[in-house]
Amino acid sequence: MKNTNSHRLYDEAVKLMPGGVNSPVRAFGAVGMKPIFIERTKGSKIYDADGNEYIDYVCSWGPCILGHSCPEIIKAVKDACDNGLTYGAPTEKEVILARMINELMPSMEMIRLVNSGTEAVMSAIRAARGYTGRDMIVKFKGCYHGHSDGLLVKAGSGALTSAVPDSAGVPKAYTDNTLIAAYNNKASVKELFDKYGDNIACVIVEPVAANMGVVLPEKGFLEFLREITMQYGSVLIFDEVITGFRLGLGGVQEYFGIKPDMTTLGKIVGGGMPMAVYGGIKEIMECVSPVGKVYQAGTLSGNPIAVSAGIAMLKMLSDKPHIYEEISIKAEKIANALESIGAYVNHIGSLLSGFFTDREVKDHDSAVSSDTAKYADFFRYMLENGIYIAPSQFEAMFVSYAHSHEDIDKTCNIIKNFQ
Ligand SMILES: *Cc1c(COP(=O)(O)O)cnc(C)c1O
Repeated sequence: MKNTNSHRLYDEAVKLMPGGVNSPVRAFGAVGMKPIFIERTKGSKIYDADGNEYIDYVCSWGPCILGHSCPEIIKAVKDACDNGLTYGAPTEKEVILARMINELMPSMEMIRLVNSGTEAVMSAIRAARGYTGRDMIVKFKGCYHGHSDGLLVKAGSGALTSAVPDSAGVPKAYTDNTLIAAYNNKASVKELFDKYGDNIACVIVEPVAANMGVVLPEKGFLEFLREITMQYGSVLIFDEVITGFRLGLGGVQEYFGIKPDMTTLGKIVGGGMPMAVYGGIKEIMECVSPVGKVYQAGTLSGNPIAVSAGIAMLKMLSDKPHIYEEISIKAEKIANALESIGAYVNHIGSLLSGFFTDREVKDHDSAVSSDTAKYADFFRYMLENGIYIAPSQFEAMFVSYAHSHEDIDKTCNIIKNFQ
């Protein structure tokens, strides 16, 4: 496979941007090679600067659940552009989108649009603190909630891959109020509540974790979080930036039937444009400015192009709810292929991870028992064979509606021949 153009671009990029990229995992650091530069996409495929074609299972880290360059979404964006790119004033489209989100996820009685998942989580936590008048928050080791200061504590995703548990540049004082529990470990949560319960503003969790690789909640874990937060008057925040509209139209909260107080959405909800959402019960959301005293704002928030893409995406998904079953079946085939080569697989809906470990993966500690050198070999082998998977063991594999049976069968055969 020829990579001349990608390598040339990378050599120039590293002089201008840290690692040559605008988000760390893209630099391929965990798999020990130079990144490929993407030129265009279509359906299940991405094409790099040297014209190589790959079946893509990164799907822009989640947004492209309908595949790349979905014609209906592209059309919605193009049409919206004719009316201008930004107004900084309210629009009918925001009302339409808010209504759609509210109908699909009734726990989000009121919402606010922001520009990234990081911003959504940061703002949700501020609202939870404002509402409760408490300072402390509980997060889980291995869950990733974006790169805001208070949450870069033993974060997953890029921070985990590069083996830097905390980030430089975050003052100690900013994380003093962040408490860490272990995923799927009720006792670790109970311990924190026993000690600090009356000062815990919220518990934030990826209700299906997907940033230490995919890790499913054990039976009763989410129910327990619902109960203990209720008992102490803390806010339960589901970070559904990955899982929202991915595990079904109603996210994990519908899938497992648990109602959080607040929810954050991103990735799919923007249809590929930079947009994210936070929201929840009215009582909490009415604490947000200008109604309440929790300040939060954004020049480009509710951007008409992004909102148009989001509406088109949610419309497509609502019109074809059968897609969820279909992509889940396709993902299962890949899960089976990964199991056949000895990986430990976690799979739910169209999300899966194959861990190169003998242990059962149910939390951060078991996830990091994986053989990352073997994963790097696997990644390079897949890429050589025209399959693009995440350049890190600790990310999910995303299956989209655009992946054909032929794509899936080809992928499975290539996986099975890995040694
Ligand atoms: C991606 C992600 C974020 C951060 O979203 P950005 O848009 O990258 O800022 C937050 N939470 C979860 C669960 C995510 O997967």
